Amino acid sequence: MGQDAIDYKRKLAEALRAVKDEGRYRVFADIVRHRGSFPRATFHTPEGKRDIVVWCSNDYLGMGQHPAVVEAMHRAIEEVGAGSGGTRNISGTTHYHVELERELADLHQKEAALLFTSGYAANDATLSTLARILGDCVIISDEMNHASMIEGIKRGGGPKRLWRHNDLAHLEELLSEIDPAQPKIVAFESVYSMDGDIAPIGAICDLARKYGALTYLDEVHAVGLYGPRGGGIAERDDVLEKVDIIEGTLAKGFGVMGGYIAASADLVDVVRSYAPGFIFSTSLAPVLVAGVLAAVRHLKASDAERERHQERAATLRQMLADAGLPVMMCESHIVPVMVGDPVTCKQVSDDLLRDFGIYVQPINYPTVPRGTERLRFTPCPVHTDEMMRDLVEALDQVWTRRKIRRAA
Ligand SMILES: *Cc1c(COP(=O)(O)O)cnc(C)c1O
Repeated sequence: MGQDAIDYKRKLAEALRAVKDEGRYRVFADIVRHRGSFPRATFHTPEGKRDIVVWCSNDYLGMGQHPAVVEAMHRAIEEVGAGSGGTRNISGTTHYHVELERELADLHQKEAALLFTSGYAANDATLSTLARILGDCVIISDEMNHASMIEGIKRGGGPKRLWRHNDLAHLEELLSEIDPAQPKIVAFESVYSMDGDIAPIGAICDLARKYGALTYLDEVHAVGLYGPRGGGIAERDDVLEKVDIIEGTLAKGFGVMGGYIAASADLVDVVRSYAPGFIFSTSLAPVLVAGVLAAVRHLKASDAERERHQERAATLRQMLADAGLPVMMCESHIVPVMVGDPVTCKQVSDDLLRDFGIYVQPINYPTVPRGTERLRFTPCPVHTDEMMRDLVEALDQVWTRRKIRRAA
């Protein structure tokens, strides 16, 4: 049988039609940010270019444009050129990598840290490797955990229990049912990025310890943003020593690219020695690492960005609530506005971009559960009061035009 015997073209077309029929086919916005004037950017369309304001960037503090970060990257490219030239084991460990791992271990008060090319790779590689190495390890996973953790747990191949989101009683029930002699990991996040709620880290770790489980905490939406030195919610809550493994990204609060874990020296050494996703992939470009080093060091010493960030988020949330828009109330920096339908959610996003030059990506399934489709605003220190007034006014008009449900 030749290749023609199988209708590949039809199978691919069917797969694409399925996501389109559900209204969740993703269209990427082609944008160019302007250094020095973020959140303003240029939007490239087939009809030409136009100026927009970005409202959904995960460069939460604007560190991706911070002069210290940009300068460090310029210096690094002059010093060492573009790429790292190899995996960590084969010529790809530069002094930048060594320094950043020390800096991150210190940030989280752990013995060691390990860099990955992304937060996704860090979660996937670490959870799958630990599950395999610890032998018949049960992973107790918060039901709202990010796709990268779910994928790592799946690839680890061990048993998994889903724990109702942030529900301590349910977590204890599950922990108490597992053989005390069996290895276990409780895996969860600190700030949940779509609802903006925050886990009770200390209480979760106490329960895990009581039942002999390790704790794995994804602080991706908190590192750089919370805690006196930007060490995340665990640092803010003064429970760093209770968490066994902390995972973070270098691409959101720190504004550049990459991911990492911080943990005991032995645990980090095991992942370094056994995780294929770490071992067989070229290390981060030194230029990126140099930029991250500058961002981490700056945010360890400066609270100004964090304070302004929290104030901006609280201000926008209040303005939306005052306008009777269905904003979800939460204590973090994320400002979600509920739409509840994938097609409407996409239409609202299109209206905002086309008619008002406001860019916010619709968040649809599988990123959030069906029926909870939403717009997710991430106000940054650089969003002004005027930009917020323009946003609320635009949303108000679109909500009326499309007859969308307002706050109860
Ligand atoms: C974005 C994200 C990741 C992945 O981090 P990247 O560095 O973007 O790969 C992991 N966990 C959570 C909760 C995230 O939102």
